Amino acid sequence: MNDERGTGIAARLSAVRAHIDEATQRAGRPAGSVRLVAVSKTKPVAALREAYAAGQRDFGENYAQELVEKANALRDLPDLRFHFIGKLQRNKARDVVGAATLIHTVDRSELAEAVNRRAAAENKRISVLVEVHLGDEASKGGVKPEGLGALLTAMRAMEGLDVRGLMAIPPPSDDENVARSYFATMRALRDEHGGVAALPELSMGMSSDYEAAIAEGATLVRVGTAIFGARG
Ligand SMILES: *Cc1c(COP(=O)(O)O)cnc(C)c1O
Repeated sequence: MNDERGTGIAARLSAVRAHIDEATQRAGRPAGSVRLVAVSKTKPVAALREAYAAGQRDFGENYAQELVEKANALRDLPDLRFHFIGKLQRNKARDVVGAATLIHTVDRSELAEAVNRRAAAENKRISVLVEVHLGDEASKGGVKPEGLGALLTAMRAMEGLDVRGLMAIPPPSDDENVARSYFATMRALRDEHGGVAALPELSMGMSSDYEAAIAEGATLVRVGTAIFGARG
Protein backbone atom coordinates (compact mmCIF):
# COMPACT_ATOMS: atom_id res chain seq x y z
CA MET A 1 0.00 0.00 0.00
CA ASN A 2 1.42 3.32 -1.03
CA ASP A 3 -0.76 6.08 0.27
CA GLU A 4 -0.16 8.96 2.67
CA ARG A 5 -0.44 6.53 5.56
CA GLY A 6 2.87 4.93 4.59
CA THR A 7 3.98 1.37 4.00
CA GLY A 8 4.91 -0.11 7.40
CA ILE A 9 2.93 -2.61 9.47
CA ALA A 10 1.56 0.11 11.77
CA ALA A 11 0.30 2.10 8.81
CA ARG A 12 -1.32 -0.90 7.16
CA LEU A 13 -2.91 -1.93 10.43
CA SER A 14 -4.46 1.46 10.87
CA ALA A 15 -5.77 1.38 7.29
CA VAL A 16 -7.35 -2.05 7.87
CA ARG A 17 -8.85 -0.89 11.16
CA ALA A 18 -10.33 2.14 9.42
CA HIS A 19 -11.88 -0.10 6.75
CA ILE A 20 -13.29 -2.39 9.43
CA ASP A 21 -14.83 0.56 11.27
CA GLU A 22 -16.36 1.91 8.06
CA ALA A 23 -17.78 -1.49 7.08
CA THR A 24 -19.17 -1.99 10.60
CA GLN A 25 -20.89 1.35 10.49
CA ARG A 26 -22.24 0.79 6.96
CA ALA A 27 -23.76 -2.47 8.16
CA GLY A 28 -25.50 -0.63 11.00
CA ARG A 29 -23.63 -2.67 13.57
CA PRO A 30 -22.27 -1.34 16.89
CA ALA A 31 -18.76 0.14 16.85
CA GLY A 32 -16.25 -2.39 18.12
CA SER A 33 -18.36 -5.46 17.30
CA VAL A 34 -15.75 -6.82 14.87
CA ARG A 35 -12.42 -8.09 16.17
CA LEU A 36 -9.36 -8.09 13.91
CA VAL A 37 -7.23 -11.23 14.00
CA ALA A 38 -3.88 -10.36 12.40
CA VAL A 39 -2.78 -13.50 10.55
CA SER A 40 0.96 -13.73 11.15
CA LYS A 41 1.75 -17.22 9.81
CA THR A 42 5.27 -17.46 8.29
CA LYS A 43 6.08 -13.93 9.49
CA PRO A 44 8.96 -13.36 11.92
CA VAL A 45 8.43 -12.57 15.59
CA ALA A 46 9.70 -9.03 14.93
CA ALA A 47 6.67 -8.40 12.69
CA LEU A 48 4.31 -9.46 15.50
CA ARG A 49 6.11 -7.15 17.92
CA GLU A 50 5.70 -4.30 15.48
CA ALA A 51 1.96 -4.96 15.21
CA TYR A 52 1.71 -5.31 19.00
CA ALA A 53 3.42 -1.94 19.46
CA ALA A 54 0.73 -0.51 17.17
CA GLY A 55 -1.98 -1.86 19.49
CA GLN A 56 -2.76 -5.23 17.89
CA ARG A 57 -3.50 -7.98 20.41
CA ASP A 58 -5.08 -10.88 18.45
CA PHE A 59 -2.89 -12.91 16.12
CA GLY A 60 -3.73 -15.91 13.94
CA GLU A 61 -1.37 -18.82 13.30
CA ASN A 62 -1.83 -21.92 11.11
CA TYR A 63 0.87 -24.33 12.23
CA ALA A 64 1.02 -25.83 15.73
CA GLN A 65 4.78 -25.79 16.02
CA GLU A 66 5.12 -22.22 14.77
CA LEU A 67 2.39 -21.20 17.20
CA VAL A 68 4.25 -22.72 20.16
CA GLU A 69 7.57 -21.16 19.13
CA LYS A 70 6.05 -17.71 18.73
CA ALA A 71 4.10 -17.97 21.99
CA ASN A 72 7.35 -18.78 23.79
CA ALA A 73 9.25 -15.98 22.10
CA LEU A 74 6.53 -13.46 22.98
CA ARG A 75 5.92 -14.48 26.59
CA ASP A 76 6.86 -10.97 27.70
CA LEU A 77 3.66 -9.64 26.07
CA PRO A 78 1.07 -11.11 28.45
CA ASP A 79 -2.09 -9.75 26.84
CA LEU A 80 -1.20 -10.98 23.37
CA ARG A 81 -3.70 -13.63 22.21
CA PHE A 82 -3.12 -16.35 19.68
CA HIS A 83 -5.87 -17.85 17.57
CA PHE A 84 -5.30 -21.18 15.89
CA ILE A 85 -6.76 -21.00 12.37
CA GLY A 86 -4.95 -23.83 10.55
CA LYS A 87 -5.76 -27.43 9.84
CA LEU A 88 -5.50 -29.19 13.17
CA GLN A 89 -4.28 -32.73 13.69
CA ARG A 90 -5.32 -34.70 16.74
CA ASN A 91 -1.73 -35.24 17.88
CA LYS A 92 -1.21 -31.46 17.94
CA ALA A 93 -4.11 -30.80 20.31
CA ARG A 94 -1.74 -30.49 23.28
CA ASP A 95 0.34 -27.72 21.67
CA VAL A 96 -2.64 -25.78 20.46
CA VAL A 97 -4.73 -26.04 23.64
CA GLY A 98 -1.71 -24.81 25.59
CA ALA A 99 -0.97 -21.79 23.42
CA ALA A 100 -4.20 -20.57 21.81
CA THR A 101 -7.11 -18.58 23.24
CA LEU A 102 -9.49 -19.69 20.51
CA ILE A 103 -9.30 -22.62 18.10
CA HIS A 104 -11.21 -21.75 14.91
CA THR A 105 -10.96 -25.05 13.07
CA VAL A 106 -12.63 -27.92 14.91
CA ASP A 107 -14.51 -29.83 12.21
CA ARG A 108 -15.06 -33.42 13.37
CA SER A 109 -15.95 -35.22 16.55
CA GLU A 110 -12.66 -37.17 16.91
CA LEU A 111 -10.76 -33.89 16.82
CA ALA A 112 -13.20 -32.28 19.24
CA GLU A 113 -12.66 -35.25 21.59
CA ALA A 114 -8.88 -34.85 21.43
CA VAL A 115 -9.12 -31.12 22.20
CA ASN A 116 -11.61 -31.81 24.97
CA ARG A 117 -9.36 -34.44 26.57
CA ARG A 118 -6.41 -32.09 26.43
CA ALA A 119 -8.38 -29.23 27.99
CA ALA A 120 -9.58 -31.55 30.76
CA ALA A 121 -5.98 -32.63 31.42
CA GLU A 122 -5.05 -28.97 31.86
CA ASN A 123 -8.11 -28.31 33.97
CA LYS A 124 -9.47 -25.70 31.65
CA ARG A 125 -12.18 -24.97 29.14
CA ILE A 126 -10.96 -23.99 25.74
CA SER A 127 -12.98 -21.77 23.42
CA VAL A 128 -13.54 -23.26 19.99
CA LEU A 129 -15.33 -22.55 16.73
CA VAL A 130 -16.71 -25.15 14.36
CA GLU A 131 -15.31 -24.88 10.85
CA VAL A 132 -18.00 -25.25 8.19
CA HIS A 133 -17.25 -26.41 4.66
CA LEU A 134 -18.81 -24.19 1.99
CA GLY A 135 -18.62 -24.78 -1.74
CA ASP A 136 -17.44 -28.12 -3.01
CA GLU A 137 -13.66 -28.06 -3.21
CA ALA A 138 -12.77 -31.58 -2.21
CA SER A 139 -9.52 -30.69 -0.45
CA LYS A 140 -10.75 -28.25 2.17
CA GLY A 141 -11.59 -28.91 5.80
CA GLY A 142 -14.83 -28.20 7.59
CA VAL A 143 -17.99 -30.05 8.45
CA LYS A 144 -20.66 -30.07 5.73
CA PRO A 145 -23.71 -27.99 6.67
CA GLU A 146 -25.76 -31.25 6.83
CA GLY A 147 -23.49 -32.53 9.59
CA LEU A 148 -23.26 -29.33 11.61
CA GLY A 149 -26.20 -30.01 13.94
CA ALA A 150 -24.91 -33.40 15.06
CA LEU A 151 -21.37 -32.13 15.57
CA LEU A 152 -22.60 -29.16 17.62
CA THR A 153 -24.70 -31.45 19.79
CA ALA A 154 -21.71 -33.71 20.44
CA MET A 155 -19.41 -30.79 21.18
CA ARG A 156 -21.82 -29.00 23.50
CA ALA A 157 -21.76 -32.09 25.71
CA MET A 158 -17.97 -31.91 26.09
CA GLU A 159 -17.11 -30.13 29.31
CA GLY A 160 -13.67 -28.95 28.24
CA LEU A 161 -15.07 -27.07 25.24
CA ASP A 162 -16.77 -23.70 25.10
CA VAL A 163 -18.37 -23.65 21.64
CA ARG A 164 -18.40 -19.99 20.65
CA GLY A 165 -19.45 -20.00 17.01
CA LEU A 166 -18.70 -20.88 13.41
CA MET A 167 -15.81 -20.32 11.03
CA ALA A 168 -15.45 -20.68 7.26
CA ILE A 169 -12.93 -20.25 4.47
CA PRO A 170 -15.20 -19.99 1.43
CA PRO A 171 -13.81 -20.75 -2.04
CA PRO A 172 -12.00 -17.70 -3.43
CA SER A 173 -14.03 -15.57 -5.79
CA ASP A 174 -13.42 -12.33 -7.67
CA ASP A 175 -17.11 -11.60 -7.61
CA GLU A 176 -18.06 -9.74 -4.46
CA ASN A 177 -21.66 -10.98 -4.71
CA VAL A 178 -20.51 -14.60 -4.68
CA ALA A 179 -18.24 -14.01 -1.67
CA ARG A 180 -21.06 -12.28 0.10
CA SER A 181 -23.51 -15.09 -0.58
CA TYR A 182 -21.19 -17.57 1.20
CA PHE A 183 -21.04 -15.26 4.21
CA ALA A 184 -24.83 -14.95 4.15
CA THR A 185 -25.03 -18.75 4.20
CA MET A 186 -22.89 -18.76 7.35
CA ARG A 187 -25.16 -16.27 9.04
CA ALA A 188 -28.18 -18.42 8.12
CA LEU A 189 -26.47 -21.55 9.51
CA ARG A 190 -25.74 -19.68 12.73
CA ASP A 191 -29.40 -18.66 12.98
CA GLU A 192 -30.54 -22.21 12.26
CA HIS A 193 -28.34 -23.67 15.01
CA GLY A 194 -29.17 -21.50 17.99
CA GLY A 195 -28.64 -17.91 16.82
CA VAL A 196 -26.39 -15.27 18.33
CA ALA A 197 -27.08 -16.37 21.90
CA ALA A 198 -25.71 -19.87 21.29
CA LEU A 199 -23.12 -19.01 18.63
CA PRO A 200 -22.01 -15.42 19.16
CA GLU A 201 -18.90 -15.57 16.97
CA LEU A 202 -18.68 -15.76 13.18
CA SER A 203 -15.07 -16.01 11.96
CA MET A 204 -15.05 -15.13 8.28
CA GLY A 205 -13.40 -12.72 5.86
CA MET A 206 -9.73 -12.39 4.84
CA SER A 207 -7.71 -9.60 3.17
CA SER A 208 -9.72 -9.68 -0.05
CA ASP A 209 -13.23 -9.91 1.35
CA TYR A 210 -13.43 -8.88 5.00
CA GLU A 211 -15.73 -5.95 4.28
CA ALA A 212 -18.30 -8.25 2.64
CA ALA A 213 -17.98 -10.60 5.64
CA ILE A 214 -18.66 -7.73 8.05
CA ALA A 215 -21.76 -6.80 6.05
CA GLU A 216 -23.05 -10.34 6.75
CA GLY A 217 -22.23 -10.39 10.44
CA ALA A 218 -18.58 -11.44 10.88
CA THR A 219 -17.35 -10.84 14.44
CA LEU A 220 -13.80 -12.05 13.77
CA VAL A 221 -12.00 -11.21 10.53
CA ARG A 222 -8.70 -12.93 9.75
CA VAL A 223 -6.44 -10.58 7.82
CA GLY A 224 -2.84 -11.39 6.89
CA THR A 225 -1.55 -9.98 3.61
CA ALA A 226 -3.17 -6.56 4.00
CA ILE A 227 -1.26 -6.09 7.29
CA PHE A 228 2.02 -7.98 6.92
CA GLY A 229 2.43 -8.02 3.13
CA ALA A 230 2.60 -11.03 0.83
CA ARG A 231 3.91 -14.32 2.22
CA GLY A 232 7.12 -15.62 0.65
C1 LIG B 1 -3.71 -17.34 5.71
C2 LIG B 1 -5.11 -17.29 6.21
C3 LIG B 1 -5.81 -16.08 6.35
C4 LIG B 1 -5.26 -14.73 5.91
O1 LIG B 1 -5.31 -14.62 4.51
P1 LIG B 1 -4.91 -13.24 3.78
O2 LIG B 1 -5.47 -13.40 2.43
O3 LIG B 1 -3.42 -13.16 3.81
O4 LIG B 1 -5.55 -12.14 4.54
C5 LIG B 1 -7.08 -16.11 6.90
N1 LIG B 1 -7.64 -17.27 7.31
C6 LIG B 1 -7.01 -18.45 7.19
C7 LIG B 1 -7.68 -19.68 7.65
C8 LIG B 1 -5.73 -18.50 6.63
O5 LIG B 1 -5.13 -19.70 6.50
